[in-house]
Amino acid sequence: MATQSLTLQPSGHKMPLLGFGTWKVSKDTTADVVLKAIEAGYRLLDCACDYGNEVQVGQGIKMAIEKGIVTRDELFITSKLWNTYHHKEHVPLAFARTLKDLGLEYIDLYLIHFPISLKYVPFEDRYPPEWGNMEQDPVPVHETWAAMEDLVRSGKVRDIGVSNFSAILLMDVLSYAKIKPAVLHIEVHPYLNNSQLIKFAQSQGLQITGYSNFGPASYVELGSPAAQNAVPLFKEERLSKIAAHHNKTVAQVILRWLVQNKVAVIPKSSDPVRVAQNADIFSFELSQQDMETVDGMNIPLRLNDPAGYANIPIYA
Ligand code: NAD
Repeated sequence: MATQSLTLQPSGHKMPLLGFGTWKVSKDTTADVVLKAIEAGYRLLDCACDYGNEVQVGQGIKMAIEKGIVTRDELFITSKLWNTYHHKEHVPLAFARTLKDLGLEYIDLYLIHFPISLKYVPFEDRYPPEWGNMEQDPVPVHETWAAMEDLVRSGKVRDIGVSNFSAILLMDVLSYAKIKPAVLHIEVHPYLNNSQLIKFAQSQGLQITGYSNFGPASYVELGSPAAQNAVPLFKEERLSKIAAHHNKTVAQVILRWLVQNKVAVIPKSSDPVRVAQNADIFSFELSQQDMETVDGMNIPLRLNDPAGYANIPIYA
């Protein structure tokens, strides 16, 4: 499978444009799903403490390596620092736990998951802590960022970045970072194209990973009214037309629109047919007109907003 990559700054490492998401993959299937994704050609795995399945992701990786499908250095593993570990003394602890759970000696990219700091929860009390009792415990981002930089210096993380950060927060980090964030990881799909933020971050040398590429699909099962009320992207007429024209599926058109905009994608599926389909996005090209049609679908509809489920309005 022909895949492509983005070059990260300042390290010069390559990040695949196509990755595989692991949120809401149940523990009992994760190892097998990860193995099959690697067999299908995915080389980037998007993980997080919060997904509660890093041990099983690690098992899938180990199986793939033992079967000779890939070597460790052909994989690109991303993980994320959870909200309860923003204090400088907790960052290395949380990272060490993730590294141990994944069974790896280093990870390629470690992100601050949200610009939200919640009260520390010891591992033995609850892991992953999830949103817990939502007690906020503000830590300045510069403290957390300095601890993230130390992880790079330790040699156990190749690149660091941020997720769910707005432009103003990014400007703040860029003002003091000794090691600049390599990646901004944000919600991007046709109903929320985030074009201004993407343009700004790219102009500052960051690469973008878009998550929840299929928009409402991932949030309907969580009972989100906004997702339930939206027209599913898979049934959206303009996308269906473009898909029919290229003899591809709507899912492939969405992913292609993103990678053509130099946004890395991390679709999630446990269905082998969809896993294969989502990886086949480098064999066709959307026209300028197709690209503009998809750009024009921005509502904007944000589906992952902590204002709704945690009463923390980071986008207010
Ligand atoms: P997604 O946009 O990848 O959509 C997943 C849904 O679409 C599932 O219901 C799946 O069955 C369906 N689907 C997948 N491929 C399909 C196809 N070809 N045809 C039809 N249906 C298809 O959802 P997501 O899991 O929210 O996002 C992907 C990944 O992004 C996550 O797994 C996670 O790794 C990451 N993520 C990160 C954050 C963050 O805060 N940093 C937040 C959300 C997700």
